[in-house]
Amino acid sequence: MKRSEMKSDLRQLLSVSFGGGTNSTAMLIGLWERGIRPDFITFADTGGEKPHTYKHIEDMQKWLKKVSFPEIVIVKKVDKNGHVYTLEQDCMDHNKLPSLAYGFKQCSQKYKGQPQDKFFNNNDLCKAHWKSGGKITKMIGYDTGESHRIKDYNCNKYNVVYPMVEWGWSREDCIEAIDRAGLPQPSKSSCFFCPANKIAEIKEMNALYPELIERATAMERNAQLTQVKGLGRNFAWESVIATDDMFTDSYIQLACGCYDG
Ligand code: SF4
Repeated sequence: MKRSEMKSDLRQLLSVSFGGGTNSTAMLIGLWERGIRPDFITFADTGGEKPHTYKHIEDMQKWLKKVSFPEIVIVKKVDKNGHVYTLEQDCMDHNKLPSLAYGFKQCSQKYKGQPQDKFFNNNDLCKAHWKSGGKITKMIGYDTGESHRIKDYNCNKYNVVYPMVEWGWSREDCIEAIDRAGLPQPSKSSCFFCPANKIAEIKEMNALYPELIERATAMERNAQLTQVKGLGRNFAWESVIATDDMFTDSYIQLACGCYDG
């Protein structure tokens, strides 16, 4: 995809869904290298991102300013009174785990997708654009190894495109692009309590951020569980932390829909 191709259609606004990880970071760099400036960059914060992701967003804001790109707009779910309502609080209030633990992806839709849609729906530029018959082009940072995740999400408001697949960028190309831009390589982004976390990641988190593991296991203890044993679905994270027993990740079949590794 070339700038001329993307901007020749004046009935488009360009938006990047920034996930806080390697791929969407690389996509921003690739766009900059091609002279394609997005109109919006959004990051949906569930309230449960890991500290390294919040730090990476700060680093990216500085880089975006340097290259004259728009800053990342951080969007969050709010309740009917306009107060931020986190996924963690939702789980605690309703004695449950994130829906991924039960095999569903509503947590991603509710805490990632909906706040971003709401931002665009309330944005005057977007409203005027839609009114004049235009569409917003959402750019998603999948690499060539993730083409199985590509779906046709086009509708009367949005075109959804996958620039890095068009560029032929693999995971390695993404890492190289980040090095080229002189940015730190981001660690994987996801909620600290995401049921898709692997055993090694849970153990690493326990070493790095024990207070977050305490909050995740408090969520497990608070949940009324019948279908699953805990955040690991067939096991509780508390068991993983408490013992050196062998657990395997084979129980965790569902990938996190928010993955931006
Ligand atoms: S990172 Fe995991 S827990 Fe958080 S919203 Fe996405 S799927 Fe749900």
